[in-house]
Amino acid sequence: MTVPVFRFAPSPNGHLHLGHAYSALLNQQMARNTGGRLLLRMEDIDRERCTPDLERAMLEDLRWIGLDWETPIRRQSEHFAVYHKALSKLIGMELVYPAFLSRSDIKRAIEAMPGDRDHWPRDPDGALHYPPNDRMLSKSERDRRIGEGQPFSWRLNMQRALEHVGEKLSWSETAPDRHLVEARPQDWGDVIIARKDMPTSYHLSVVIDDALQGITHVVRGTDLFHATSVHRLLQRLFDIDPPVYHHHALVLDRDGQKLSKSRKDTALRELREQGKTPQEIRGLVGL
Ligand code: GLU
Repeated sequence: MTVPVFRFAPSPNGHLHLGHAYSALLNQQMARNTGGRLLLRMEDIDRERCTPDLERAMLEDLRWIGLDWETPIRRQSEHFAVYHKALSKLIGMELVYPAFLSRSDIKRAIEAMPGDRDHWPRDPDGALHYPPNDRMLSKSERDRRIGEGQPFSWRLNMQRALEHVGEKLSWSETAPDRHLVEARPQDWGDVIIARKDMPTSYHLSVVIDDALQGITHVVRGTDLFHATSVHRLLQRLFDIDPPVYHHHALVLDRDGQKLSKSRKDTALRELREQGKTPQEIRGLVGL
């Protein structure tokens, strides 16, 4: 029998809060209950927002709540070449294209479109779908703009990617119990695969790393439930066997809002300074 492999994959761009504690400890509990392994991955592709100090603080907080993980830790910032290779494959398959529009350009381009602009589709995170302008550019125009040094990201040509796959995709979900979920990557439109300043994005790195690290069970918050549709599509394009997914409920604040890294009162460091114990943290998140 293969040993289950779990991972906790925070981004060191702020301090951990109770929601992260729940996710990390749930991963640990599920790994222990199944005789599995637990890996830790730093999703630190954003070199401006993720800092060594924040990573150090994060590791300290995780140790304090009693998490143990295998070493070495995988740091995404050390593997840009791997993501670049994956991106090159999609470029070679002509499934991604250079996208030059800034956020304000996107709005303007949509306003200039004929038809019902008020109901322009939005992705599950609420962002407007990328308009078709750049998808339609000729190769020579693309080359001209790139040659001029215009900044661009790489976006997936969703329509073409779906045609390439040619069948519906789904994933195995275990929350609240085991069932199949139909993936709906089309809901994302032409999603970003590589950001302007780097050869990757959250979606690309997470799919490549989960595969390289042999992750069998992805346990993460429901805020990433819809992103799994994009991950399934990328896995299929790269011939990767998908893990099983478990999207757990989020820890909410008193007003029913999702916790954020910028809030102090639910930060693990703050709670520790107030004299809370790791046992109390487990109690607070119900584990
Ligand atoms: N790095 C992501 C975050 O901190 C989590 C990624 C994942 O678990 O897939 O929200």
